[in-house]
Amino acid sequence: MDLHHRQTLQQLDAAHHLHPFNDNAALAKKGTRILTKGEGVYVWDAEGNQLLDAFAGLWCVNVGYGRKELGAVAAKQMEQLAYYNSFFSCTTEPTVQLSAKLAELTPGDLNHAFFTNSGSEANDTILRLVRHFWAVQDQPMKNIIIGRHNGYHGSTVAGASLGGMKGMHKQGGLPIPDIHHIDPPFWFSDGGDLSPEEYGLVAARRLEDKILELGPERVAAFIGEPIMGAIGVWIPPMSYWPEIERICRKYDVLLIADEVICGFGRTGEWFGQQYFGFQADIMPIAKGLSSGYIPIGAVMFNDRVAGVLKEKGGELAHGYTYSGHPVCAAVALENIRILQDEKIVETCKNDTAPYLAKKWAQLGEHPLVGEARIVGMVGALELVPAKPARTNFEDRGKVGVTCRDHALNQGLILRATYDSMLLSPPLVISKAQIDEMAEKAWKALDLTARELG
Ligand code: PLP
Repeated sequence: MDLHHRQTLQQLDAAHHLHPFNDNAALAKKGTRILTKGEGVYVWDAEGNQLLDAFAGLWCVNVGYGRKELGAVAAKQMEQLAYYNSFFSCTTEPTVQLSAKLAELTPGDLNHAFFTNSGSEANDTILRLVRHFWAVQDQPMKNIIIGRHNGYHGSTVAGASLGGMKGMHKQGGLPIPDIHHIDPPFWFSDGGDLSPEEYGLVAARRLEDKILELGPERVAAFIGEPIMGAIGVWIPPMSYWPEIERICRKYDVLLIADEVICGFGRTGEWFGQQYFGFQADIMPIAKGLSSGYIPIGAVMFNDRVAGVLKEKGGELAHGYTYSGHPVCAAVALENIRILQDEKIVETCKNDTAPYLAKKWAQLGEHPLVGEARIVGMVGALELVPAKPARTNFEDRGKVGVTCRDHALNQGLILRATYDSMLLSPPLVISKAQIDEMAEKAWKALDLTARELG
């Protein structure tokens, strides 16, 4: 793109486009980066830079960029039937086929899909339908949902309330009533002298304490990400989730696994629950469902919850114009076909993810890295002032941004949350591309360390 055109776009962007999760005044001064093309694990910007996108857009481009089949399926569906809704007793073939496919693919008896446009809307749907589920069983007071501090469940009113991001709660008067949070499991800064597995049990039992404090008759559900993504890829000890499941069963609290990031292969299993060994009653999904090619999300409900909603729920006073959009459903189906036919998840689990884990561990030997954590194709490097102490920099976030910018200058996209460098590449990344990523990340760490002096 020529310089004049790029600058014109940047000026128009600064004048007319409010960016999510950005300081828009600062951004207008700096100028946005305009992305123009994607192929495999690479994207190109308007200046012609080729960038290895080790963050898969926003944890979502699981099959990689530039898959023509997905565009072809969308075009075909648009020509045949561009839109119809799922209200008025209607549906379309791709929507039906996708529901059945998801019932087959998802763990346990999560056999019933409610379609949305995003992960946030999936969590809004959950808030309403979980409360409805208990209300129609004569327990309207069982309406509290427990989430976790620093959790992320999206940006709508319900999503941000269920999440535990303080910065988000400050804007817009959140959280809404009857949502509570417990401390999350992050052994690195909270585990003290306990082994990770001992600590996992301690962290899970915070849920039991909270349920007993509020009264089990008040608690409708618990929601958590199998791996906490946005806060910095906080991977719980293996003891955590089975204990959470035990506690939820004991007090008849519905268990919601937010698989918006973990779903569709990110952990090397199809779903995070399969990696950690637990079974949810309700599961929001999005992102990898369409590999980000088109907006679509869903909530998967198990037989028990869907059964009550169907038999006792009456008319569901809930839905979106685009719930079960046929074009989005067709693209999601084709995306799942690609993941299955090309054995992308299995290749990750058995071949590329173990290789990536080795390379990631080597990056962990860098003097600036206090912990290199990874599961499948999602990981983080925790940058620290000194090894081996598990402490953070005082001025949190500055070093992370410096490192992210150095990575970008090397042609590598990593995300920084505070001083955690986050990795979540397309699942199709090859070993040669993993080498390229690791080399560039090491250089970025070196340059950052040099700057710190
Ligand atoms: N849940 C989790 C775990 C997420 O990471 C996200 C987004 O990153 C969401 C929900 C919200 O999804 P969306 O941005 O599609 O609304």
